[in-house]
Amino acid sequence: MTESIDPATVRYDAIVPAGEPWIHEIIKGQYLRIIDVEGNQAADTLFFNADDYEDRYSAQDTIRAQANIYLTTGTKLMSSKGNVLLTIVADTCGRHDTLGGACSMESNMVRYAIEKRHMHACRQSFVKAALAWGHGLAKRDIAANINFFMNVPVTREGGLTFEDGVSAAGKYVQLRAEMDVLALISNCPQLNNPCNAYNPTPIRVVIWDPRD
Ligand SMILES: [Zn+2]
Repeated sequence: MTESIDPATVRYDAIVPAGEPWIHEIIKGQYLRIIDVEGNQAADTLFFNADDYEDRYSAQDTIRAQANIYLTTGTKLMSSKGNVLLTIVADTCGRHDTLGGACSMESNMVRYAIEKRHMHACRQSFVKAALAWGHGLAKRDIAANINFFMNVPVTREGGLTFEDGVSAAGKYVQLRAEMDVLALISNCPQLNNPCNAYNPTPIRVVIWDPRD
């Protein structure tokens, strides 16, 4: 099932600890694999045109372009200015969410309890990593995101439900950059949601060059 990567082509390989953000550029043609190391983890992800951060991942345009609310193999991740940022080229998990959004202090209070307000959330991780990256990337650039490995089915009545994860240890999603992009991931620190079994765990990110 797992397609092996030629070690000679690997340009980057790292573990993102549970609850931590990660930011990195991916050059056109390179591949990015995000691996759910222990299973049932949520990788909240944003992508930007590396040369124009106002041209960023658009959940609305991606859903409209493929006429499907779930992301999987074949999905072209569209930008707000109509560009294809990346294509999902392999997916051993099978379903990823782009409707549920990133957890925030505010949503933690509304969904769980007022006492959850102090808890670290993806929105804080996004902002922290964006500001550390610099180059003008800031809070206003944090738009609707992808939740890789997260199961957020839509009910017949049109409601959103957060279900136990469909992912498992070692499952991965693989993307090909169709232009130079900046990837920003919050490896979700959420402790109140069944999507990650109430237990944040590490993810692994690998970037490699195409064989030619
Ligand atoms: Zn989160």
